[in-house]
Amino acid sequence: MKQNGTLLNTQVPKDDETCITPKNTITSPIKKDDFSISNEEKIRIITHHFKEIMDVLGLDLNNDSLKETPKRVAKMYVNEIFSGLNPKNKPEITLFDNEFNYTEPLIEKNIPFTSFCEHHFVPIQGIANVAYIPSNKVIGLSKIHRVVDYFSKRPQVQERLTLQIQNELKTILKTDDVGVVIKASHSCISCRGIDHQGSYTITSFLPKSFKSSTDIMTCLNTFK
Ligand SMILES: [Zn+2]
Repeated sequence: MKQNGTLLNTQVPKDDETCITPKNTITSPIKKDDFSISNEEKIRIITHHFKEIMDVLGLDLNNDSLKETPKRVAKMYVNEIFSGLNPKNKPEITLFDNEFNYTEPLIEKNIPFTSFCEHHFVPIQGIANVAYIPSNKVIGLSKIHRVVDYFSKRPQVQERLTLQIQNELKTILKTDDVGVVIKASHSCISCRGIDHQGSYTITSFLPKSFKSSTDIMTCLNTFK
């Protein structure tokens, strides 16, 4: 994980949601048969193992405040914070005709997200700025948020998250003119290890067409 720096363009291969990650792709490392068991079964198994973790740590699982924690954590993993691992949760996107022939950039800014560092399983909290230049179709604004949300809700590294959002929108909108800039703070930097609060990491993936426009670049690189 490159911290506190800016990631610039790299080649983007296709994202195949269900394959084991080949090296140098933007696919999340998800097992091929990961969805052969139900969410209920996953919750049951994770509850069991989390109980063991708490027990090994020396916690009293008969304590009123703690006894439901394993199940609570398991449900949170499967149904909430890692729900973006399941392709069934990928947002349905409806496009609209570009009836105004709008061909200038549309910039959606300050999209908040919470993801989780895949190395430490602690939060990555940040903001995404997304821009695209429409071709024949336009996308509902909330759908851009939903794409950010879907790829955030899985164990991640920020570079991959940036590329996955950009690649997904490019595929949906059938245009290369999509740019994503993310600014995020990593709890693995602020609450452990070096223990530094206040730093953040910026990653970007921008098409050539945006790099030649100072206006777009300024807008994309400005956060609230
Ligand atoms: Zn980390």
